[in-house]
Amino acid sequence: EAKIEEILKKYYFHEIRLPIFEQFELFARGVGETSDIVSKEMYDFQDKGDRHLALRPEGTAGVVRAYVENKIFGPEHHKPVKYFYNGPMFRFERPQSGRMRQFHQIGVEVYGTKNPAIDVETMHLAMEIFHNFGIKDLSLVINSLGNTESRIAYREALIAYLEPHFDELSEDSQQRLHKNPLRVLDSTDRKDKEIVKDAPSVLEYLDEASTKHFEEVKEMLDYLEVPYEIDTNMVRGLDYYNDTIFEVITNDPDFGANTTICAGGRYDGLVEQVGGPETPGFGFAIGLERLVMLLEAANFEFPNLTELDAFIVTIGDEVNTEALKIVTELRKHGLIVEREFVGRKPGSQFKTADKLNAKVVFTLGGMELENRNINMKLLETGNQTKIQLDDIYSDNFKEIYESEIKKLKSGE
Ligand code: ATP
Ligand code: MG
Repeated sequence: EAKIEEILKKYYFHEIRLPIFEQFELFARGVGETSDIVSKEMYDFQDKGDRHLALRPEGTAGVVRAYVENKIFGPEHHKPVKYFYNGPMFRFERPQSGRMRQFHQIGVEVYGTKNPAIDVETMHLAMEIFHNFGIKDLSLVINSLGNTESRIAYREALIAYLEPHFDELSEDSQQRLHKNPLRVLDSTDRKDKEIVKDAPSVLEYLDEASTKHFEEVKEMLDYLEVPYEIDTNMVRGLDYYNDTIFEVITNDPDFGANTTICAGGRYDGLVEQVGGPETPGFGFAIGLERLVMLLEAANFEFPNLTELDAFIVTIGDEVNTEALKIVTELRKHGLIVEREFVGRKPGSQFKTADKLNAKVVFTLGGMELENRNINMKLLETGNQTKIQLDDIYSDNFKEIYESEIKKLKSGE
C-alpha cells in the first residue's frame, strides 16, 4: 500500500477516507439497478431508524457523494480534483480464489475535466503501479462506450442482433437481453461468447465527439508508448461509465491468465446524478487481494516493515523496571525495540531474538544492573561489548550506538 501511495502522490492524488456504509439508493442509482452489484451482490439492511443502508460494494459512488456534499466543485478547489481511497468493499458473491465477500480496493477518482490526457495519465498511472512491482505480463485493454445517446442507439442495434439468437443464449443473458444488453457482451458463457463475436461494434455507434475523444486517447497512449489492446466487447459491470473504459488483465499463466486486477473508466454524468453540477469524472480501482496473489505467484519479496533494531534479554525480576526504562529511551531515538516480558531462560530469549531477526541483542541481568552497564551483541558478527547505562540515557546515545555498531561489525 505504501509503495502504491508513493506513486499516487507523484500524480498529485490526495487521500479521502470514506464511510463503510451509505444510503442504498446511492449505489442503486449510481452503480445501476440492473447491474449485478446492485441486483445480486449488495449487503443492504434497514437500520433502527428504518433507513435503507448498504455496505459499500465499490468506492466511486461514495467519493462522488462526498464531493457533492462538501461542495468540492467550488472554485476554491484546484481542478481537476484528484482523490484516492483504500479500504474494504463488500459483495455477496460465491467465494473462490481471488473473489471474496469482503475484499479491498485502492482506487482513484479525478473530477473536473474531459481532457483525454486525464484518461491517458490515469491509465498510465495504473500501469506504472504494476510495473513498479515488477509485474510485466499485463495487458491494458480499452474500449469506448460513447455518450448516452450513442449508447441508446447501440443498445437497440445490439438487441436487434441478439434477438434472433434468443434461444441459444444462456439463461443469464436471456434475462439481460432487454434490461442490460451490453452485459451480454462480456458473458463468460462459451455459447454466448460465440454469438457475440459477430455482434455490431460499439465503436461504430460513437458520435463525432466520442470518436474524437477515443482517437485522442489512442494517439496519446501511442505517444507515451503505452501498449494497449482494443476489445469492443469489453463493457463494465457498472452503469455509470461513458466514453473510455479499461481493464488491466494479467497474462501470468502461474497465476491464472485473464484475471482482471484493475478496472475503471470515464463517468461524466455521475456527479450530476448525485445532485452536483455537471462534472466529468475518471477513475479506477485495483483489487488488492488479487494484486497480492499475483505478487505471491511472481515470488515478490514483501519488505519487512518492522525490522527489529534491538531485543532486550532480561535476566531476573529485579531488572524489570530498568528494562522498561531502557526500551523507552531506545524508542525515543527512533529504534524499533522489543524486550522479554515473561522471564524465560536466557537461551530461549536469544532464540527469539534470532527468530525476530534483531540486529542487536542487549542483555541486562543483576550484575549489569549493579555495575550500571548492559551487554550489547551484534548478531551479524557475534561480537559483543559493554556499554554504560548513562550512555543509553544520554542525549547523544544515537552517535554512541552507531559507533559501537561500527566497531562490533569490524571486530575492533
Ligand atoms: P469481476 O468481473 O472479476 O467480478 P468486477 O467487474 O466486478 O470484477 P470491479 O467492480 O470493476 O470488478 O472492481 C475492480 C477490481 O476489484 C477487480 O478487477 C478485482 O481486482 C477487484 N474485485 C472485484 N470484486 C472482487 C471480489 N469479490 N473479491 C476480490 N476482488 C474483487
Ligand atoms: Mg464482479
